[in-house]
Formats: sequence, C-alpha cells, structure tokens
Amino acid sequence: MKPGKIAIEEHVAAPAVIERLGLEKPTAEFDGQRGGYFDGRRAAMRKYLLDIHGQMLADMDAAGIEMSVLSLTPTPGIQSMLDKQAAIDLTRVANDYFADQVAENPQRFQAFAALPMQDPDAAARELTRCVNELGFRGASINGFTQVDSVENDIYLDDKRNWDFWGTVESLGVPVYLHPRDPMDGGIRCLNGQPWLGNSRWAFSVETSSHALRLMSSGLFDKYPKLNIILGHLGEMLPNVIWRIDHRIQCMPDRGMPARKPLDEYFRNNFYITTSGSFCTSTLMNAIQWVGAERIIFAVDYPFEKMAQASEWFDAIDVICDHDWEKIARGNAIRLLRLETGKAEGVSA
Ligand code: ZN
Repeated sequence: MKPGKIAIEEHVAAPAVIERLGLEKPTAEFDGQRGGYFDGRRAAMRKYLLDIHGQMLADMDAAGIEMSVLSLTPTPGIQSMLDKQAAIDLTRVANDYFADQVAENPQRFQAFAALPMQDPDAAARELTRCVNELGFRGASINGFTQVDSVENDIYLDDKRNWDFWGTVESLGVPVYLHPRDPMDGGIRCLNGQPWLGNSRWAFSVETSSHALRLMSSGLFDKYPKLNIILGHLGEMLPNVIWRIDHRIQCMPDRGMPARKPLDEYFRNNFYITTSGSFCTSTLMNAIQWVGAERIIFAVDYPFEKMAQASEWFDAIDVICDHDWEKIARGNAIRLLRLETGKAEGVSA
C-alpha cells in the first residue's frame, strides 16, 4: 500500500450518542427505512465505530492511511433528533469526545464537528467553538434536519440557515454534506424496492438533490467562498450537471434565485471525495468536471473497507503522480489546513 494518504469521510461514534440514540434500538425513523444497513451487523458496527485507537488505527496502518478526519456516524444521527435542546446538548458532548480522541493522536486523527442544525444559531456557535477552541477542520452534516416533528424536514438552503452559512464562510472551513436516507416514501418510485434503498441508490438521489438546492438557492452568490464537500464521487452530479443547466436554460422562467449556471457553483464551491465509490471511470469523470485539485481521497469507514479503497486508489495508473498525490493528501492538507508530518516517499 502506498503510504501517506489522508482519508476524510471516516465515521466514528461517541458513546453518549449510541447511548442516547442507540444502535441496537434504532429510532422509529431508522426502523422505517427500506432495509437498514446495520441489519444483523449492529454489534460489529458498534466495535468499529468506537474502537478508534485500536481497530481503526490498525486498518489505517494496513491501508497506508496516515490520517483520518473523523465524523459522527450518520445513522442514527443528530439530524434526526426532534428536540432542539437535546440535539444541542448531545452534539456538544459528542464534539468534546471527538476532541479528546484527536488530542490522543493528532498526527493520525483530526475531526469534523457534528452540528445541531435544529437551531442554526446554536449550530453557528458550536461550529465556532469547535474550530476556534477545539481545532476542528470543518463540519459534517448528515443531510436534512428534522425539527419538532418527523415530517418537518429542513434543508440547508432554507433561509433560516443563511446566517449560519455566513459564520461558516467567515471561519473559512468546509462543510461535508453527508447522505441520509430520504424521508420514508420520499422517493415513491423506490417504494417496495429495498435493494435500491439507502447507500445503494437512494442516498445519492437525496444528497445530489440537496446539493442542487444549495446551488440553485443563490447561497453561493451571497457567500462565494463557501466550500461544500460531497462524497461518493459527487453523488452522480458529474454525470448530470450539464443536462440540468441545459434544461434550466431551455426553461428559464421558473424563478431560480441563483445568478449563474449551476455548473459554475459546482466547480467553484464543491469538493468531491472518493468515499464508497472505487471506480476509476467515475473518478475520471469527476476530475474532468471539477479538476484534480478538488478531489480528495476518502473511504467511508466502517461502511467500506480501508483496504479495498486503498488497493483501488493505489493502483490507478491513468492519472499522473502529481494529481494522484493531490487527491491522496495535498488537497486535504490545503483545504483543511492540516499540519501533518510527511510520510516517507510521499510529498505534499
Ligand atoms: Zn459516510
């Protein structure tokens, strides 16, 4: 395995979060999903999500991964907590726990903050605390947030969140827009098709739609320095963004607030990671759209294996060494302002 890679969509859990939200006792919303991916594997997942300095570090060593940027596991997650204050309190506990884990081995671990988007002002304060006091590298938000009731799903382009985005821009950190499952029945064409649910297909439909909402809302006209990270080689967007702009241009009278073609935001305000999508032709397509300087290596641990991701990525021979190193570590170091010792044989 080639050494020195930095992986940035690597999930862990805080014990307090598991205690509150449960893995063995998932929320009603989680039970309602079309086939949860923890089915039959919850005990194993618990070990992987909690054993940061044992199992996870060993997997990183074996895969040539120098550093993992930790984020809170998405399911069940903070975004599905209906009670605002409970979400605020639990997020703070989780972030403090992650800060302790990073402090134990900062050369190998850094972290993204979890955020209680149920209260955007509290989320802005928590992100500020995490970045300025705890040294976090940004935030990871697991899709839409439910507030007060299961049906009340708030997306990140909602005007209620715009002051929060102002804080994000002024802090100069990225936000990782991580998938969650669509609301039950939200994608009717998938009803009764559990084999297409969650990470197989529904995540990408949900998350690419969320990203398009951000692009088309005008958010990036107001805050042009924002950086959003999308996993899974761009959640299909490199394949469809041209057609979306093309059809918007054909029917321009639909009241879209954004001033530019969506592709311009995609190229200037988004980064794409390789998490859970270890396919060279898809990677090449993503590079063609946003450039190699906006692609970052990631695994999606523990839902994907570090060894498999690294075997694929290390063997890629259709991009030059310079671009490979940018994707492997250089872009992450630049975007996340990482202070990292150079692993032997790899230059940033
Ligand atoms: Zn993930």
